[in-house]
Amino acid sequence: RNWPLTNTGEVRRLLAEYGLKPRKSLGQNFLVAAGVLDKILEAAEVEKDEVVIEIGPGVGALTRRLAEKGARVAAVEIDGRLIPLLKEVLGDLGDRVRLINADALKVDYGALLAEMGAGSFKVVANLPYYITSPFVAGFLEAGYRFERMVLMVQKEVADRMTAANGTESYGALSVLVAYHTEADVVWRVSRHCFYPPPAVDSAVVRLMRRPAPAVTVLQPELFFRIVRASFGRRRKMLPNALAGAVPGLDRETWVQIIESAGIDPRVRGETLTPDQFGLIADACVRLGY
Ligand code: SAM
Repeated sequence: RNWPLTNTGEVRRLLAEYGLKPRKSLGQNFLVAAGVLDKILEAAEVEKDEVVIEIGPGVGALTRRLAEKGARVAAVEIDGRLIPLLKEVLGDLGDRVRLINADALKVDYGALLAEMGAGSFKVVANLPYYITSPFVAGFLEAGYRFERMVLMVQKEVADRMTAANGTESYGALSVLVAYHTEADVVWRVSRHCFYPPPAVDSAVVRLMRRPAPAVTVLQPELFFRIVRASFGRRRKMLPNALAGAVPGLDRETWVQIIESAGIDPRVRGETLTPDQFGLIADACVRLGY
């Protein structure tokens, strides 16, 4: 059997054969545009025998293409109803595809990668929208040594991931992504490329992991705590936003720390570059707080 899997009729028929309907609560919007799959594969630059982690294989369209390129794919799908269908669609690919019926937010990727003997690996996925931020943030914070991630995400999230300081989309996620990776938007994708179409447009982002973090700081944990607090109350001037972020440090102390970092304490956090957040975090340590 031939598996184009890239038009609505085909995907709908296949799901019907298994008595299934797409579940909105699981973000089941299946990609039905061959051209977009091509773009994802182009951005992924998969090499033969390389390990690729795919989150949410759905009906297996992207999974098939990755495996056909020679990748060894570990596909993590939460919806057990799709597993028999995926086994049929991917059956001829043998051990190039490993199906894991689990919640992608709970998988121990370290153990999985060790089992697969992965040196370098990539993450390629059309992510269910409701897990995008926790998945990406969790994966980055865990320090997995991926080479790149190529992800279909909601357009607004793509903007947040790639935003520069001073823009409306700039936030804690932008700083986290910039700290670990060099990120860019590869392709904007209309909602009509999916079955069923979601309520928003999407974009494919590429996150290339940096060999070392973009900002060298004395205490990364403190750096991220400052970043999160700054954006938690983003309309406030920085010392007000930071008051209480570190136990015992009041507004006046933050004014002193920010000034000693060479930054005007009247600014808002959303205007600061990751480097400037780094200067503040290090000033905090140097002043003995
Ligand atoms: N890869 C397919 C495609 O491109 O057409 C499907 C993508 S669809 C946007 C998201 C997929 O992620 C669905 O198959 C859904 O069941 C699955 N999913 C949702 N939540 C998940 C989770 N927490 N862990 C793993 N998979 C999940």
